Amino acid sequence: MSRVLSSAHVHTTFCDGRSTAEEMAQAAYELGFVSLGFSSHAPQTFDLKYCVDPAREDEYIAEIRRIQQEYAGRMAVYLGTERDMQSCADPKKYDYFIAAVHYFMKPDGSFCAVDGPAEEMRKYVDEYFGGDGLRMAQHYFSLMRDYVTEAKPQIIGHFDLIKKNNSRLHLYDEDDAAYRAIALEALRAMRETDALLEVNTGGVARGYMDEPYPSSFLLKAWREWGGEVIINSDCHFADKMDAAYDKAEELLLSLGYDHAVRLNQCPERGMWETVSLR
Ligand SMILES: [Zn+2]
Ligand SMILES: [Zn+2]
Repeated sequence: MSRVLSSAHVHTTFCDGRSTAEEMAQAAYELGFVSLGFSSHAPQTFDLKYCVDPAREDEYIAEIRRIQQEYAGRMAVYLGTERDMQSCADPKKYDYFIAAVHYFMKPDGSFCAVDGPAEEMRKYVDEYFGGDGLRMAQHYFSLMRDYVTEAKPQIIGHFDLIKKNNSRLHLYDEDDAAYRAIALEALRAMRETDALLEVNTGGVARGYMDEPYPSSFLLKAWREWGGEVIINSDCHFADKMDAAYDKAEELLLSLGYDHAVRLNQCPERGMWETVSLR
């Protein structure tokens, strides 16, 4: 049984989620969640099937606010968004936003999705980095670092998303000191912003990862630097609302964390609260 009973990273049919916002709220409530934050992919000008259509942004906002009212006093609901570095959305319209890098933009204006088809990533690394996966990783983490330190999100989303394709393509070695130094340097810079580091169970829930994002060595360093973590399910299906939370909680305890942060069950007391993992 999860202790966290909350997720700030939940998709809906407004973007690429498979359940409606109403179905997501219902599922969370039935699990005994004390709080829930919606975070459909923020509007962008390309790859529209994946994000909230810019023309429907107001509708998304109105629907989440309606659900917030519906559950008032029973489960605290928040309006968030997962805002890609390439998004055109104004984060001020939302209670909070999760920063993420899902795309590598190419000079011709096309893109390679960071967590997209493996063969496209292979081609991208061959074409732009001479087949050197470590250089691709360096590029990815520099984008993440610059975006987070400039935009100052409340949450850093799936920090090492590149490991999804790396698990299939073996583009770099996660245990390599050079890789670790690159990832740690970017994470250290983000620590200065006081953002929450997301422990994202979406990949474990969908069956293609053994451990959440980010990897243990990064979570360990984050704790040593005094950083706070938030466990999120990156949920696209209502029945996966808290999938793999038990695993994430166990992992955090083994790394010396005794608490995590979640969306506050009493919004009048502020946006966030801590929850004991013991
Ligand atoms: Zn994402
Ligand atoms: Zn997401």
